[in-house]
Amino acid sequence: MSSERARRGLLLVVSSPSGAGKTSLSRRLVADNPSLDLSISVTTRAPRPGEAHGREYDFVDRAVFDSMVDENAFMEWAEVHEHRYGTPGVPVVLAVSAGQDVLFDIDWQGAAAIAAAAPEEVVRVFILPPSMADLARRLHARAQDAEDVIERRLKRAYGEIEHWTEYDYVIVNEDFDAAYAELAHIYRAERLKRVRNPGLAPFVAGLLAERL
Ligand code: 5GP
Repeated sequence: MSSERARRGLLLVVSSPSGAGKTSLSRRLVADNPSLDLSISVTTRAPRPGEAHGREYDFVDRAVFDSMVDENAFMEWAEVHEHRYGTPGVPVVLAVSAGQDVLFDIDWQGAAAIAAAAPEEVVRVFILPPSMADLARRLHARAQDAEDVIERRLKRAYGEIEHWTEYDYVIVNEDFDAAYAELAHIYRAERLKRVRNPGLAPFVAGLLAERL
């Protein structure tokens, strides 16, 4: 389909318990698709080794976060693992008005808030681990968090997974490449939906007016 034809952007929300692979899957999808921007959240948690301000998150202290809440800077925000995480609204509005799609790597609370705010535009994908034992292994292998933090994340994973029925698509991440192919297919198919392509109506009118 011609890229000049008008289309309506979509908001792709990807959630999973910590360690199920959503961040790697999401980042690869954004890297492979120039039409898709990543929403960078703001958080009060400390950066993990290897994380950079403005790349994984905007890392701020609690006072800055709370002043952003007071200024209505967030589309949604939530408390997760005793830290606060929020999605800034302005970059999303700018991206969508420039015809871009936006990917959100956020938890079920954020997914529900974005679905309530933009029900027509939202597409929700949930990533499951193949087993809880595998999730525990991945969290330990990541070796970025202290043991008690890993234990808390594992406990919370059960509660996160309970929300799986609030999602449009579910991927079991047993093999990264296979899970990535499924995510990429979902994104491509959703972009092709008729309702997301208002430019099709004049195109079809032109086809029907073309008399041979
Ligand atoms: P982590 O500390 O492992 O990076 O993230 C912890 C959890 O917070 C993950 O489930 C992640 O998806 C979620 N999260 C990250 N940013 C946001 C956000 O802006 N809003 C919400 N609601 N959750 C977020």
